[in-house]
Amino acid sequence: MSELRDLYQQVILDHNKKPRNFRVLAGANRTAEGYNPLCGDEITLYLSVEDGVIKDAAFQGKGCAISKASASMMTDGVIGKPVDEAEALFHRVHAMLTGDVGASGNTSGDGLGKLAVFGGVREFPSRIKCATLPWHTLRAALSGAGEPVSTE
Ligand code: ZN
Repeated sequence: MSELRDLYQQVILDHNKKPRNFRVLAGANRTAEGYNPLCGDEITLYLSVEDGVIKDAAFQGKGCAISKASASMMTDGVIGKPVDEAEALFHRVHAMLTGDVGASGNTSGDGLGKLAVFGGVREFPSRIKCATLPWHTLRAALSGAGEPVSTE
């Protein structure tokens, strides 16, 4: 378990220092805002979706290292994916982070690749919403809900 924790911390630090896709996406056709009032995390997510595929993704915002690292890895993870695969990924990551199986079938994080390191956040229950925020925001952007999402 301590190996996972070390890896988890390394990945968070790296993505916090050098967030991927941290910019405004010109030409985005889906956007959503997400807030985690417990921690003060704010994210604006930009997606460019064409023919049912997420061609590009980017984000802006401010928040803790975990929310930023999660948004960084989430955008990296969904670029190039069909919308339905991104939705499936949401369910699997959400199940891993919360320990709640939901629509995903299991909570192991198997097959999630790099995203599996976020399983380490379960050791820090107060930070789980920091990690899930970008994913909820992704879902809102894909559904075109238009309303800011909040973890509360
Ligand atoms: Zn946070």
